[in-house]
Amino acid sequence: MGNWRDFFTGHALGAIAFTPLFMLISSGSLGAWASAADRREWLGASTCFAAIIVATLAAFLQSTVPLLFLPSLPTVIAVFRIGRLGAALGTALIAVIAIACTMGGYGPIDAMEADRGVKAQFLQAYLACVVLTALPTAAELKQRKTSFAELQSTSTVARLVLDRSGDVIMHLAIDGLIQFVSPSVRAIAGYEPEDLMGRRPHDFIHNEDIEEVIRIHRRALTNPNDTLIVEYRAQRANGDWAWYEVHTRATLGENGASTGVINISHDITSRKRAESRLVKEAQTDPLTGLLNRRALDLALEERSAARSPFSIALFDLDHFKAVNDTYGHDTGDLVLRSFAEHLSNAFRKSDIVARLGGEEFIVVLDDTNSAEAREICERLREDFASKSLRAEDGRCVRVTVSGGIASWRDESDLWQLVAEADAALYQAKHQGRNRLALAA
Ligand code: GH3
Ligand code: MG
Ligand code: MG
Repeated sequence: MGNWRDFFTGHALGAIAFTPLFMLISSGSLGAWASAADRREWLGASTCFAAIIVATLAAFLQSTVPLLFLPSLPTVIAVFRIGRLGAALGTALIAVIAIACTMGGYGPIDAMEADRGVKAQFLQAYLACVVLTALPTAAELKQRKTSFAELQSTSTVARLVLDRSGDVIMHLAIDGLIQFVSPSVRAIAGYEPEDLMGRRPHDFIHNEDIEEVIRIHRRALTNPNDTLIVEYRAQRANGDWAWYEVHTRATLGENGASTGVINISHDITSRKRAESRLVKEAQTDPLTGLLNRRALDLALEERSAARSPFSIALFDLDHFKAVNDTYGHDTGDLVLRSFAEHLSNAFRKSDIVARLGGEEFIVVLDDTNSAEAREICERLREDFASKSLRAEDGRCVRVTVSGGIASWRDESDLWQLVAEADAALYQAKHQGRNRLALAA
């Protein structure tokens, strides 16, 4: 008996079985559990511990059947129900009963045909097994509980962001099929999210943009560390076209390979409209609505590669200063607008019609040689000369126009042609106005 006591007091067995319980008591965890637990939890815990006591007594108060495995069952249940406290208190209860019974000469360990030292070592190994089963399980469960709580709070935040977002958030599979789309798609594009599941965004994207969108989708899949941006037009449920700026990034599977992409689409229709309005304004003459000089420069630049015949006609209103002086500046403006309209109606949509400034205008006629250009311009000049406009004060105003025409020849320089047309125009003025002249 004395030997046993010496063994237990001096040996690590006590430490193995009771340290976790002491640590829980000293850290206040046991007290915290006791004060937070409700009646149901107390009842559940008490039942578990009672079951551990009964199972351990059943295993150690007899030696006919080796029931050493029996206490493990209620211990595992205690670990799952009560966590670390269940593990610590459960293993301490098993240790107290197992030690007391074995020391008192009861149970399967005492009945072993071996000397006391071996029996003590076996008991030690048995308790170590019980502790090493219960404690790591409790630690793992605690870890999972924490991760689960974190995940839940993250997913609550994610849900809130999805619900409140002014952007459409979409999850696409590798093949581009929609796996998820945020409810915001209802307000932004008019679609029901469930109607879009399993479809492709491509079905709604403008033909001219689709190639770029597919290219970016593939690039996002092969560059999972990059967020790529693409702008495209897509159709709303009501058939209207809208512009979207889309940020796209790959989602990764457990092995680090791309499993699809997340798209965040922002409606930029009004920005795009404002941009194109600004571009249009910057290229439009405010008085007549024709292209201005800057737009003409751009258009001629684009045309400089053309290798087909085209002609340039310059027009200048005759004695326009006198119109202003006689009828007033507002009537002068009216005449300018009227002539601009006359020009727009006389030429094809594909021809460039621009106001160079003041009362000078230019027309670039595609696929037109000098004879054809002359014919068209001559008709225009006659029509305009026969037209009678009404001044602000009700008087009739008649204005004539002179023109100079130059046509493309092999390798002609565009600006050289404009200069030639200008020289021809000067000649027409010199010859008495209300007429056309062809460049030499
Ligand atoms: P010519 O037959 O030789 O072309 O004589 P012209 O009087 O038409 O030529 P000139 O270049 O001397 O006069 C052009 C006038 O056009 C002078 C200017 O006051 C007027 N003008 C220029 N821009 C505008 C405008 O936006 N509105 C009005 N009402 N007049 C303008
Ligand atoms: Mg003039
Ligand atoms: Mg002039």
